[in-house]
Amino acid sequence: MKVSAFAVYREREVLKDYSFEIGALGSHEVLVKVTHCGLCHSDLHMIDDDWGVSEYPLVPGHEIVGFVEKVGKEVNGFKVGDRVGVGWQCGSCLKCKECLSGFEQLCTQMVETIVGRHGGFADHIVVDSRFVYKIPDEIDSAWGAPLLCAGLTVYQPLFFYGAGKGVRVAVVGLGGLGHLAVQFAKALGCEVAVISTSLDKGRDAIKFGASKFSTNVSDKKLLRKFDIVLDTTQVNLDWGLYIELLAPLGRLVIAGIPVGEVAVPIGPLVNGQKSVCGASLGGRTTMKEMLVFAAKNNIKPQVELMPIDKINEAVRKLREGRARYRIVLDLQA
Ligand SMILES: [Zn+2]
Ligand SMILES: [Zn+2]
Repeated sequence: MKVSAFAVYREREVLKDYSFEIGALGSHEVLVKVTHCGLCHSDLHMIDDDWGVSEYPLVPGHEIVGFVEKVGKEVNGFKVGDRVGVGWQCGSCLKCKECLSGFEQLCTQMVETIVGRHGGFADHIVVDSRFVYKIPDEIDSAWGAPLLCAGLTVYQPLFFYGAGKGVRVAVVGLGGLGHLAVQFAKALGCEVAVISTSLDKGRDAIKFGASKFSTNVSDKKLLRKFDIVLDTTQVNLDWGLYIELLAPLGRLVIAGIPVGEVAVPIGPLVNGQKSVCGASLGGRTTMKEMLVFAAKNNIKPQVELMPIDKINEAVRKLREGRARYRIVLDLQA
């Protein structure tokens, strides 16, 4: 069967029509008719080949929601008509220590939805059903899409690093990831502050659940106040300033993927027994838990729905920092 998609033919170019053939389904695969697909910063990194792994023509899109249209012979737990989602990861070895302990995202054989294969800005996608997730009924397809990458990316480190009642969290950046991080942290019982360079986002930060908003990372009132500082930006920041926000034993978690290296002053790190760590997606169990948690706690990405034929306008908007807060492409429009 022929799939109609939007692809980038060369790095940094605009997306154009593209079609390709798909063959018979593998035994664990499902064919999904895509209805919605979110636009994530990682799509931009892939379009631009920032990570040196892009293959063209490249069909971006890895926050995918749609309906199962066909199932392979050994598919378990899915039937035609199920409403499902697919995120950044769509495969792993399922046998290594990481896979067996619920950290499939750390598997060395991880398969990524838009690396060496085609993603969700297409009318259909074929994907391993073991990395496909049912979307709870409470979650709308349009705003469910961003949960599959942005939602997981912030929920996992918050949960894993102990965000809970009374834990003080500073979310750095209020964009696609940040606005979800605030909602998850608040729902987990944390006291949440937002640090952003956009003065006009203060009201939204409070609306999403923050109790403080600041545009000044050097504000004396913020020093040593946080147990977790969660960076959600795509910018290589002056990390030393963010280390200063941490209370002793605090943790700076980098969940955005800025390009470059992280330089931190060793003194405050050692003296306060602070740590700096990365966060990457989440395993399959975490994904399922995140979706249930989001449904139960009414965590809702704020989306701007655009028809798929406006994909290039959407990309431009995201590049210019004008997305509020996640653009989702409607493939039924
Ligand atoms: Zn993403
Ligand atoms: Zn593995």
